[in-house]
Amino acid sequence: MKRIIVTGGAGFIGSHICERLIAAGHEVLCVDNFFTGRRVNVQALFEHPSFELMRHDVTFPLYIETDQIYNLACPASPVHYQFDPVQTTKTSVHGAINMLGLAKRTKSRILQASTSEVYGDPTIHPQVESYWGNVNPIGPRACYDEGKRCAETLFFDYYRQHNLAIRVARIFNTYGPRMLPNDGRVVSNFIVQALKGDDITIYGEGQQTRSFCFVDDLVGGLIKLMEGDVTGPINLGNPVENTILELAEKVLQLTKSKSKLVKKPLPQDDPKQRQPNISLAKEKLGWQPTVPLEEGLNRTIHYFRQQLGA
Ligand code: NAD
Ligand code: UDP
Repeated sequence: MKRIIVTGGAGFIGSHICERLIAAGHEVLCVDNFFTGRRVNVQALFEHPSFELMRHDVTFPLYIETDQIYNLACPASPVHYQFDPVQTTKTSVHGAINMLGLAKRTKSRILQASTSEVYGDPTIHPQVESYWGNVNPIGPRACYDEGKRCAETLFFDYYRQHNLAIRVARIFNTYGPRMLPNDGRVVSNFIVQALKGDDITIYGEGQQTRSFCFVDDLVGGLIKLMEGDVTGPINLGNPVENTILELAEKVLQLTKSKSKLVKKPLPQDDPKQRQPNISLAKEKLGWQPTVPLEEGLNRTIHYFRQQLGA
């Protein structure tokens, strides 16, 4: 049994990690400032004697004993990370410094939830870990992209300078139950719009691509990365690529919704294509996603039906 901190643990992915770690018999401290996370996401764990929830902002230092840290604190949806971009950069950078300092003092292993956004609007396809990326450093996405890039820099400097046991996962678009209905990301937007009978908002022509990974698959990969001996950075995502238009049509079909597709302006710097090359994860972690898009969408639709009473 280990003492494990999950920052951002009341958020979408974090809450699934907390659940999985508790089920595996660990002691879990969920640290969250509830910016996009919710108590209800971890409510089922409140009664568990090995689970603890702490309201704390990772931009401030934290002194506590621990064996492992999953550092997920950071809003992940463009709508939310652009709401207060300065706080987003602080969360990534100061948050990383504080959590790395904590890991150094306690000699803990620490995993960073990095992102495919470090590749920006990629000029090579699919994206491999050796690609350095194509990021606009002054655009509206930069607070997130550059914040996450700087966090990776810090992780690797602590690794080289202090011999810290780091793990860096580059997570690609992940979806599933416990995304917020107003999260703003494409899967939750389309499902909520379809269930309410609202228009489905396609940004641009919908020809941009993403590759969607179901949360259960991703969490399995993160835990394998933490437990294994690979430092990373390592891509974790589902390599099956879809256009946004294809996703919209799939959601309409699965929800049997009569919602109409409407085109909206494409946000600035929106990446045109994104697909992980997961050869490294397959080879080094023996990991690959197993949940097909249709099954993952059905499970997510089921969740949102319950949430919305639809
Ligand atoms: P989320 O918004 O649901 O979760 C983020 C959590 O961090 C929330 O609970 C939020 O309240 C918390 N948080 C934000 N700022 C904080 C702060 N200063 N101090 C403490 N807590 C803070 O998003 P998610 O999809 O669960 O993403 C989790 C992590 O995974 C993020 O770091 C994100 O960048 C990364 N990631 C996610 C995806 C994805 O597709 N979901 C893709 C790439 C990377
Ligand atoms: N998108 C869309 N309609 C929406 C929300 C998003 O067409 O209601 C598009 C968005 O422009 C992007 C893709 O879907 O091309 C994925 O967007 P998301 O915000 O989910 O994640 P990210 O852009 O960070 O991959």
